[in-house]
Amino acid sequence: MLPVAIVGGGPVGLFLAGCLAHLGVDCRVLEQRSGVAVHSRSIGIHAVSMDLFRRLGLSAEFLARGIQVKRGLALDRRGRLGELNLSASLSAFPFVLILPQDQTERIFQEHLLSIGAAIVSRGTKFIGLRSKPGYVEIDCQDSDGRQSLVEAQFVVACDGKRSQVRQGARIPFLGSSYPDYFTMGDFDDNTAFGPDAAIFLPSQGLIESFPLPGARRRWVVRLEEPVPSPEVPPARSEIESVLKRRIGHDLRGCKNYMLSRFQAERYLAPVLFNGRIVLAGDAAHVVSPIGGQGLNLGWLGAWRLAGQLSNVIRSGVDHPKAFSAYSLQQRGAARRAARRAEMNMRLGRRRRHVSLRNALVRVMLHSPIDRLTARLFTMQGLYSWPV
Ligand SMILES: Cc1cc2nc3c(=O)[nH]c(=O)nc-3n(C[C@H](O)[C@H](O)[C@H](O)COP(=O)(O)OP(=O)(O)OC[C@H]3O[C@@H](n4cnc5c(N)ncnc54)[C@H](O)[C@@H]3O)c2cc1C
Repeated sequence: MLPVAIVGGGPVGLFLAGCLAHLGVDCRVLEQRSGVAVHSRSIGIHAVSMDLFRRLGLSAEFLARGIQVKRGLALDRRGRLGELNLSASLSAFPFVLILPQDQTERIFQEHLLSIGAAIVSRGTKFIGLRSKPGYVEIDCQDSDGRQSLVEAQFVVACDGKRSQVRQGARIPFLGSSYPDYFTMGDFDDNTAFGPDAAIFLPSQGLIESFPLPGARRRWVVRLEEPVPSPEVPPARSEIESVLKRRIGHDLRGCKNYMLSRFQAERYLAPVLFNGRIVLAGDAAHVVSPIGGQGLNLGWLGAWRLAGQLSNVIRSGVDHPKAFSAYSLQQRGAARRAARRAEMNMRLGRRRRHVSLRNALVRVMLHSPIDRLTARLFTMQGLYSWPV
């Protein structure tokens, strides 16, 4: 029987498998997709996560592929409001590393292959589970419809915000959507920002711009009106016209690589385990993507959970006690991250009195408060325990 089955081989599931391998705990990842992700969705990797990657021997690979953002410029229509110094932290990684999610998943996948540790069963869809005395039975289905049974002492749900495992474990997911709709796209970089991030605060709503590897740039734009189906990708013209109208930036002639829309949401499970089934990543908590914390939060939790699973499996610690400690700490961190993301998002909302808001931003970016602002934007102090 498997010690641990991880359902979902996204960025959190693959990372958790690497952490368990590092601690000498066998596991298998059950992933419905046949290959790694092709979407560049999540891009911001904070110093706390880089430090975990260093412990797995992966930081050099991330550094080689990503872009180090050390400065964020805040701008309004008239020019610069101030700048956020992202390199002031005492960490060994004093920057936010930008790497698209598909490349991040690729690094984890290659790492698992290179250490020959955890097996990733691709094309394997979770369809149900049953708790038995001392283990869990999992029903899976392959792409040809063939069903199989996996038995594991513990199951970790890393199957994202619509987690079927969470539903199977009868754990509720409490929260709601914000009235904030965004559209985003990756384009050739035709700005002069180089490796800097740029945050525009015009009265109609936030525009964010981040450098991407390969001389590209990610644009994220807050829409002025709700969209009926935020999951449907927008036309390129939607983002082009907003940039032109609000900040006078022209994307004509720039090749587009990705377009998508999203509505910001906040969800948290009231407890992160039931018996031998534990939740991690977006299956456990969803925070607004503005501020780029959701995935980093998932990695920090996965690192902590791997330690607790090792305590249970290798050192015989009582599993309800170990999972309660994980649940308490991770829920606390998720609530703090959600509050920070919400604050970032509020700053970027459409305003009638934009000069008041921009005066506040100027103060936040002025010494000595700028250090506190940088801490809030780089996930520092999110955990009350050493990671
Ligand atoms: C637009 C946007 C931008 C973002 N940017 C950032 C950012 O810059 N920084 C940051 O920290 N976070 C960011 N986030 C959040 C981040 O994308 C998520 O927190 C992260 O993807 C969660 O990873 P996960 O592995 O928990 O879940 P997912 O990425 O959702 O992966 C779940 C995996 O489970 C698999 N799966 C699902 N159901 C089953 C099943 N039944 N059987 C088998 N496999 C299954 C899926 O195929 C998938 O591979 C962003 C989110 C959005 C929407």
